[in-house]
Amino acid sequence: MDETIFDKILAKKIPAQVVYEDETVLAFKDLHPQAKVHVLVIPKTRAASLQDFAFWSPEATGLFFHSVIKVAKTLGLDQRGYRIVMNTLSDGGQTVAYAHVHILGGEPLSGAFS
Ligand code: 5GP
Repeated sequence: MDETIFDKILAKKIPAQVVYEDETVLAFKDLHPQAKVHVLVIPKTRAASLQDFAFWSPEATGLFFHSVIKVAKTLGLDQRGYRIVMNTLSDGGQTVAYAHVHILGGEPLSGAFS
């Protein structure tokens, strides 16, 4: 598998503004924020997409989302809320082939599905 930009961030080969880290995830600010708060969360176990990650381990996927919620709380978003986005493969708009969640918030967000 080719090394992605997120592999390099995880390996500390390139810098990122880390906001949270534990044994299983790393969370850092998106380089091109689409909201006042825009953080990316990646599992430390490499997977190219959500699909690969979920098929590899449903249990790890559940724990990953639990950590995502912890990151949102750490960012102080748990009272007013936030949006989680997980672009998956090309039609889903995924541009980095490393499974990741976007946490967006810090302000009212437009464009919600209803
Ligand atoms: P995707 O489109 O794959 O769901 O999201 C990839 C995200 O990674 C984009 O929002 C983009 O701004 C972000 N990104 C791309 N390169 C870098 C980088 O070098 N550092 C950080 N922090 N974010 C990046």
